[in-house]
Amino acid sequence: MLSSKLNDSIQYVKSVGPKRAKVFAQIGLSTIRDLIFYFPSRYLDRTTIIKSNKAFELTINGFDGELTIIGKVVSTDVRRFGKKEILSVSLRDADGFFSCVWFQGVKFFKTRFETNQIFAISGKPTISKYNELQFTHPDFDQITEDESQVFYNTGKIIPFYRISKELKSSNIGDLSLRKIILSALDNYQSGIEETLPDFIISKFNLLSLKETVQQKHFPESFENIKKADERLKFEELFYLEIIVASRKFNYKEKLEGISLPIKTKLISNFLKVLPFELTNSQKDVLHEIRVDMANPKPMNRLLQGDVGSGKTIVSLISMLIAVDNNYQAVLMAPTEILADQHAKNISALLEKLNNIVPERKVSIALLIGGQSKKERNHQLDLIATQQADIVIGTHALFEEEVQFKNLGLVVIDEQHRFGVVQRAMLMKKGVTPDVLVMSATPIPRTLSMTVYGDLDVSVINEMPKNRIPIKTYLRGESKLHDIYTFVKSELHKGNQTFIVYPLVEESDKLELKAATSYYDELKETYFNDIRVGLIHGRMKWREKEDIMIQFQKKEIDVLISTTVIEVGIDIPSANVMIINDAHRFGLSQLHQLRGRIGRGTEQSHCILVTKDEFVASTERYARNLDYLSSAQIEKFKSSVRLQAMVKYLDGFKIAEIDLKLRGPGDIFGIQQSGFPEFKYVDLTTDGEILIEAKKEAFRIIEQDPHLRNPKHEVIRKHLIDHYSNNLKYAKIA
Ligand code: ADP
Ligand code: MG
Repeated sequence: MLSSKLNDSIQYVKSVGPKRAKVFAQIGLSTIRDLIFYFPSRYLDRTTIIKSNKAFELTINGFDGELTIIGKVVSTDVRRFGKKEILSVSLRDADGFFSCVWFQGVKFFKTRFETNQIFAISGKPTISKYNELQFTHPDFDQITEDESQVFYNTGKIIPFYRISKELKSSNIGDLSLRKIILSALDNYQSGIEETLPDFIISKFNLLSLKETVQQKHFPESFENIKKADERLKFEELFYLEIIVASRKFNYKEKLEGISLPIKTKLISNFLKVLPFELTNSQKDVLHEIRVDMANPKPMNRLLQGDVGSGKTIVSLISMLIAVDNNYQAVLMAPTEILADQHAKNISALLEKLNNIVPERKVSIALLIGGQSKKERNHQLDLIATQQADIVIGTHALFEEEVQFKNLGLVVIDEQHRFGVVQRAMLMKKGVTPDVLVMSATPIPRTLSMTVYGDLDVSVINEMPKNRIPIKTYLRGESKLHDIYTFVKSELHKGNQTFIVYPLVEESDKLELKAATSYYDELKETYFNDIRVGLIHGRMKWREKEDIMIQFQKKEIDVLISTTVIEVGIDIPSANVMIINDAHRFGLSQLHQLRGRIGRGTEQSHCILVTKDEFVASTERYARNLDYLSSAQIEKFKSSVRLQAMVKYLDGFKIAEIDLKLRGPGDIFGIQQSGFPEFKYVDLTTDGEILIEAKKEAFRIIEQDPHLRNPKHEVIRKHLIDHYSNNLKYAKIA
């Protein structure tokens, strides 16, 4: 069969052979199929190629579009203007001269041009003050003499491939690769097997896979390239969503869960002792949770809500519903400080509840590191005998020898990565409790449909009333004196301050400030007359707890800290957050840190402190994103992060920007999630295709969960052939 030939070694393609095959293998292309699916990274539109004199004429007459000129390098020249350097490359074609200039990345771009090399230069030209046609930071492709002839003489769109160093050293350039691929297609294209069922192809008006491959390599129009891309993206998202849907189905339909309806007045009594009224949004999500819990199918729900939106109380009420049914509930926090804080706050509320309902006392157990053996055994005993209704601890609760008598609900607080793996661990313990995951950071919709697609989602989209929006500022280090004065003035009003530093100890390599050394210094200088506390990750648990209690009781005014206070901590009287070396922090981390303030009745202030020159340069970088070296982009990213913080308070907005900056894999651990990585899809832009693909995939799995219908055979086969690693929790076939 022809199709099996696609799995043959690339060496059988004309002009490849065993030696070049080895070179291709170095960039991951071993089979003929690999080669056929090695698509161009960009295209050059031959229809916009014109001669330089024509381009000059158009431009001087006000033409304002992109065009391409092919020319030979005449000279390169770097000029200095004070500190700045400008690279200017002069080129000529048969009809005249034109030039290109670079203001950024001069060193890098200079090495790319040598005299007599031929380039296709694309961009929007202008007329310089020397009356010369000039491109600023244009796109460029080096081409051969032959190619420059081809360009003028054919009507094609020219594909450009990523040519690695290895390929280059084996004398494979764009032209030769194009020839190799053309010959591979001539001989093997007919063997490409369709990977989507016909009914989907016609329903969504997609190109066939054969046609897609053809149009990617040798497109007839830019429109066709787009159609080919759409087909590839759709397919990728469709299979992802098939996996998501079958995981969800597998969990929901197959497993026996517990029905946990509201039984007594426990919940309404609890609402009476709450010091505030729930927001409408909290009520809405509680309704969704209630319905889920009452259903005997296991709940598997993600609760999203911006920092400070009041997720804890929602989870506590959910836990009380489990308790109301005589089940236990567990709350897992990401840090011990947070587990301890939850235990304290929840105890206080439960005490009030127990006072008005003395006949049904709700009790809690706390399990964290650093407890004495005796204490720990006591807590374990409370859990095993169900003397504790609500169990609070860190994620260690999963792994340890913790035996629940009767577990009905698991709440995971502030955790991105609770996923199938952890759930499987719970189920191994022989229980299928309801699960409520609360996310620390709002998750963009595209991600909640993919990485979290097997969860149902509830969103709290409203803040408790009377919250005053936090003010955020970006300041240079030279302003620190003023900032400390400001801290003191807030302090005289009875408010407290967090000061955050990136690392615990001074490191020679990174010039970061260390919480400890600044603590020593500030205590002796600016803050010698006020009470300063220090907390960091290397302290023993008890020490951390002491400090937090002192801060809570206002025995400390200024708390100097590393990021250990990042998530969850709730101290409403703290209204100033100073983040030093703010450019070193990730965006969601900054947002989380800022979320520690703005919880009380006073105006809160978040001050991001960074290097002075950095404050000045953020805007400049923002304007030149396309031309930056990777080192500059790193710098630029921190500018975007800082500017996003100053501009936006909304966690969803922040999360969208974070997704753009970092990519989904990095943020939410797609790798760990057991989902495939994307080759064609960009979640930041392909949301619409995702929605279509998801709908179709879920429809199919609902009708035919095991894909036994012959209509779905193509899907089943492709899944097993290409996604077997991702099917562990999905149970197809
Ligand atoms: P997060 O969603 O970040 O976990 P928390 O649950 O810590 O937020 O809640 C933040 C603060 O808001 C807490 O002090 C909590 O008591 C308070 N809070 C929660 N819900 C309300 C409400 N409906 N009205 C007023 N304050 C509330
Ligand atoms: Mg919280």
